[in-house]
Amino acid sequence: MSHSTNESPRTRDDWHALAGSLSLETRAFIDDTFVDAASGETFTTVNPATGETLAEVASCDAADAELAVGHARAAFTRGDWSRLAPGKRKKVMLRLAELMETHRHELALLDTLDMGKPVSSSLGDTAGAIACLRYNAESIDKLYGEVAPTGEESLALVLREPLGVVASIVPWNFPLMMTAWKIAPALAAGNSVILKPSEKSPLSALRLAQLAREAGIPRGVFQVLPGFGHTVGKALALSMEVDCLAFTGSTGTGKQLMQYAGQSNLKRVYLECGGKSPNLVFADCKDLDAVARHAAAAIFHNQGEVCIAGSRLLVENSIREAFVERVLKAAETMQPGDPLDPASFMGAIVDEAQHRRILDYIRQGVEEGARLCAGGQALEGQGLFIPPTVFDGVTPAMTIGREEIFGPVLSVFGFDSEEEAVAMANDSVYGLAAGLWSQDIDRILRVTRRLQSGQVFVNNWAGGDQTVPFGGVKQSGNGRDKSHHSLEEYSELKSVWIALST
Ligand code: NAD
Repeated sequence: MSHSTNESPRTRDDWHALAGSLSLETRAFIDDTFVDAASGETFTTVNPATGETLAEVASCDAADAELAVGHARAAFTRGDWSRLAPGKRKKVMLRLAELMETHRHELALLDTLDMGKPVSSSLGDTAGAIACLRYNAESIDKLYGEVAPTGEESLALVLREPLGVVASIVPWNFPLMMTAWKIAPALAAGNSVILKPSEKSPLSALRLAQLAREAGIPRGVFQVLPGFGHTVGKALALSMEVDCLAFTGSTGTGKQLMQYAGQSNLKRVYLECGGKSPNLVFADCKDLDAVARHAAAAIFHNQGEVCIAGSRLLVENSIREAFVERVLKAAETMQPGDPLDPASFMGAIVDEAQHRRILDYIRQGVEEGARLCAGGQALEGQGLFIPPTVFDGVTPAMTIGREEIFGPVLSVFGFDSEEEAVAMANDSVYGLAAGLWSQDIDRILRVTRRLQSGQVFVNNWAGGDQTVPFGGVKQSGNGRDKSHHSLEEYSELKSVWIALST
């Protein structure tokens, strides 16, 4: 891919022109070389906004996994990354961040073409990915080990060492950003990393591999294996030579990965899984119009294909009718459109299976007695588009009130008291995110503490930057991305007890 990004695409036509000029890398990246899958097999990746085939991509399987794991281990043992001074790793990673910045339009475009999200969102994701690279690069030479408080007859050191081979398995909804959240801390800590992108969005990962090579990441230290979960993903998860699985994806797959770790070598498994996040709106909140806009964006951003989507809107009954009207008005302005149009708020649904799944949930919502207030039908014509869909009168017993839909479908519940709101919010197997809108500081602090959630957004939705950890409790997972906490996950503590002669 040779497009220089000196001129920034601005209009829909610019983005279409750039899309027409791309040449795509479709091969696996193993030991510094782009290669076909050992089997020669490929899979098709399709643009969900048009139905057009984008590329035939190498479909790696267990043979490729074994090869890549061998190279990753060899690189780790060789030590030209794992034992490199942190300040030198930092330089290479900052160079990679710089290259990503230079090629940010291509990277954003690849995600948009592959999975349908609006290009304006993809640009934001790319900026997030670059920030993550820089944060981890800058952090690694500022992490100190410890000297333990022992007596004079000994000196005890607590050292941090890289784990070894890390396999990062990521989903399709934020392809590049989820990749960066996994690989940046793992690489910074000195590990060899094998990335398995989702089979629905492999293209930006392969472009990243080209940039990593250009940045000077040594051979075998960063490799990319496109392919399916049940083939190459499973092989990595069962490998005796992989020391850590860093996963983002569904709770069902997360459970499988823990089993694979148990069946193999007890590798560490960090999981960032699904959610059904509650967004609590109390009658005392300020500016109902603004809150309604945020509540709509909390679910309709990225077509609702967001782990922390605010998919359960819990509204105090005294304002519910007036509030839902405002949400519907806001939703009107968030209709899907051409993902390459920078003005589109929503894009296309990732693929036919997900499209069908979302429509099935909508049908179930109607059958189980929820009141459909907006949307509910796929848009006719080319591409996989579903408009903002809102159900009112949802109860916790309904399927759409409990299960992660991963689409633009909002379920509105009513509550009469703070107690009831908290109980309803916590009545979920998930605990990824929760939102709370109120002007009452006592209530904010009370409710924040009682919500079973990895993160709580007060008078905002999805706030955060690289400095705060991101992750869930309950079946939303056990790991943390971002912040120095994620960096710590990718290293092992080694205790050294030195006996001193006194
Ligand atoms: P998924 O679980 O189907 O797939 C995720 C990745 O796992 C893909 O790369 C897939 O190929 C791989 N995989 C699937 N089966 C596997 C197996 N048996 N062994 C090894 N690898 C396997 O999830 P998805 O549909 O790609 O993504 C959507 C899910 O991701 C949603 O549930 C969403 O909430 C979750 N998600 C969570 C976060 C978070 O930070 N908590 C962020 C984004 C997405």
